Amino acid sequence: MKIDSLETWVKPVFVNEKRKPVVIAGPCSAETEEQLFNTCKEILEKNGNDIDIFRAGIWKPRTRPNTFEGVGEIGLKWFQNVRKELGIPIATEVATPQHVELALKYGVDVLWIGARSTVNPFTVQDIADVLKGIDIPVIIKNPINPDLALWMGAIERINNAGITKIAAMHRGFSTFEKTKYRNSPMWQLAIELRSKMPNLPIFFDPSHVGGTRELIEPLSQKALDLNYDGLMIETHINPKEAWSDAEQQVTPSRLDEILEAIKIRTASSDNEDFISHLDELRQKIDRIDKEIVESLASRMKLVEAIGDYKKANGVAVFQFERWIQVFQTRPEWAAKLGLDKDFIALLYKNIHDESIRVQTGRV
Ligand code: PEP
Ligand code: MN
Repeated sequence: MKIDSLETWVKPVFVNEKRKPVVIAGPCSAETEEQLFNTCKEILEKNGNDIDIFRAGIWKPRTRPNTFEGVGEIGLKWFQNVRKELGIPIATEVATPQHVELALKYGVDVLWIGARSTVNPFTVQDIADVLKGIDIPVIIKNPINPDLALWMGAIERINNAGITKIAAMHRGFSTFEKTKYRNSPMWQLAIELRSKMPNLPIFFDPSHVGGTRELIEPLSQKALDLNYDGLMIETHINPKEAWSDAEQQVTPSRLDEILEAIKIRTASSDNEDFISHLDELRQKIDRIDKEIVESLASRMKLVEAIGDYKKANGVAVFQFERWIQVFQTRPEWAAKLGLDKDFIALLYKNIHDESIRVQTGRV
């Protein structure tokens, strides 16, 4: 896959020799000409150099009908004016070939494909088809369901259309259970994407992951600690009155505080002391991991022996009471050692699934 480096479409800014993450900011939706203009103006006044791209949704994919679904084409005229007057690249979401054509007509600089479009290969292909031969950066949000292949498939479709200025945007995944996040981050999926497509820049959207203003700063820091290339933060001149996503948008001043507070860390360091100490710690981890794997192997041997013994005595493999006891005690032991109970519960669920497989065979 040919992917251009981020520097070809966003001017790199270095702070103490570290590249600052790309920052995309702006309201969830364009609502009125004044709201759009004043939001951008204040963002630039408060954050100056830190903002690379101004965003706003013109067409809004909403879960239920009869809510605000975006201002449509008129918003592109307002956007064009912001771009001209304030001199900042602009980005908007496109979900149909018509959206792409209109966005191009009004000079939108960067397009993004939303989570509800990424899930549908027909939609992504339709968008890819109108993008053929056009040189414009496209950001592809993750699909709403945690399906890495679907996310990669959308990236490949856009790339196959000849778009090489391309980035992924991690905006979290829908889950049936209620969590503290609006969309569960499932960081592992984005880390896996990085390992499968190492040249692909990956941005993070703390607004749609968090769903509340309070979570924006800690989530952004976490993303920087995981070496993300950029952040997209929904910012509104008057968040409480926003027509969409009012709980998660921040004011331009708050955005400035967040960007001041988060720390940029480098992906690696050449410092010799740092490298040798890190190496020492990693060797310790390697030794412990070896012990963990050896312990699991010994445990599995016992599980096999118990399985044979039960069978020889006409006893069923799965005993509910024993499972309940294992499932209760291990997280309790873990908590006493300062480990997270849920983490150990999940680990034991996996161990138990494997034990049953060892005792009953694969079906
Ligand atoms: C948005 O960025 O405003 C948006 C609608 O995002 P998503 O597609 O991630 O829900
Ligand atoms: Mn939004």
